[in-house]
Amino acid sequence: MAFVVAALNTAETGQLVKAVLAGEGHSCAIFGTGEAAVAEALAGAPDLVIIERHLVDMSAAQVVEAMRSEPSTAGIPIVIHGRTDADDVPVLSASLREAVATALTPAPGMVRAAQTMDPVPKVLLVEDDASIAEPLIDGLARYGFAVDWVATGAAALSAPPAAMVLLDLGLPDIDGLEVCRQLRRTRDVPVIMLTARGDECDRVVGLELGADDYLAKPFSLRELVARMRAVGRRTRPTPAA
Ligand code: CA
Repeated sequence: MAFVVAALNTAETGQLVKAVLAGEGHSCAIFGTGEAAVAEALAGAPDLVIIERHLVDMSAAQVVEAMRSEPSTAGIPIVIHGRTDADDVPVLSASLREAVATALTPAPGMVRAAQTMDPVPKVLLVEDDASIAEPLIDGLARYGFAVDWVATGAAALSAPPAAMVLLDLGLPDIDGLEVCRQLRRTRDVPVIMLTARGDECDRVVGLELGADDYLAKPFSLRELVARMRAVGRRTRPTPAA
């Protein structure tokens, strides 16, 4: 039996988590903020901490950082209980059960990594302009997207697989349309083109090459996230059981 501290946004999620933990014979204390959970972790030395990816006061990354910075909480495993941002489907309790079991499995000599329920969707941003890329990376992180950033077409083509590609068309080495064509030839990854060009021709060619959508710069973060979610829904593979 383990003692679990959880920071969860809603009573509904609290009930779910409590039920899953009770089913496994664990007890838990549930808090509404990251700050309260971190304080309880310091005071109560729990076996496990469960947090939601976006709490009212802190992001999951901030909670992880706060816990890792204190020697007495640094070794406590953390499960990030989240939703897939692309489709707003809550994670099933079965996978929470699995994540809890994995996190509580003793692994002598191993540094415990944060366990995530569903991996944060990795987005590949291909953009040579740092003044566009940097705020975009920060902004997308607030919506739960982890971003790998590359500044050239060549780097984009050799990057590890991503859940989605945000592709600037005006790149220094390879034309973005050619990058799109090559990406789509080898991978079934959704592509959203980001273009400074108001050129209808580029958009049409891009869409014909297999891009899933495009946004003309300047665009708002909210608009981009809305497009990303829509594209994610359209292109989402069959959910795993
Ligand atoms: Ca550019």
